[in-house]
Amino acid sequence: MRDPSCLFCKIAAREIPAAIVHEDERLVAFRDIGPHAPVHVLVVPRDHVASLDATDEGDQGLLGALLSAAREIARAEGLSEDGYRTVINTGADGGQTVHHLHVHVLGGRSLGWPPG
Ligand code: 5GP
Ligand code: ZN
Repeated sequence: MRDPSCLFCKIAAREIPAAIVHEDERLVAFRDIGPHAPVHVLVVPRDHVASLDATDEGDQGLLGALLSAAREIARAEGLSEDGYRTVINTGADGGQTVHHLHVHVLGGRSLGWPPG
């Protein structure tokens, strides 16, 4: 299911260009337009899902696929040895700005902790 007004639905449908690094029947991964690290990729479901909080028990397969894809992208980007971070921002306090579920994959430099 798509939301015609959603930016990431449009990227997944290739209506808006993005640097896509992986896609399959369920997921699309593309480079963040404002990267916070040398590697910054977003992994999103093709179907519109507003956030992690909008998922339920029936989405376990999708959520597993998102994390598995994040791992494979990190490997393909050469991040496995030095490490990387996966992040899901959810809602206002989580800092979510695009309301289509996405996993950030960040790496290529040492990342600070804790977040602000
Ligand atoms: P959030 O803040 O919701 O966790 O992350 C949204 C991310 O989407 C941000 O890191 C932002 O840079 C990225 N973003 C926003 N608009 C676009 C766009 O049009 N194309 C791409 N590739 N990334 C985008
Ligand atoms: Zn969407």
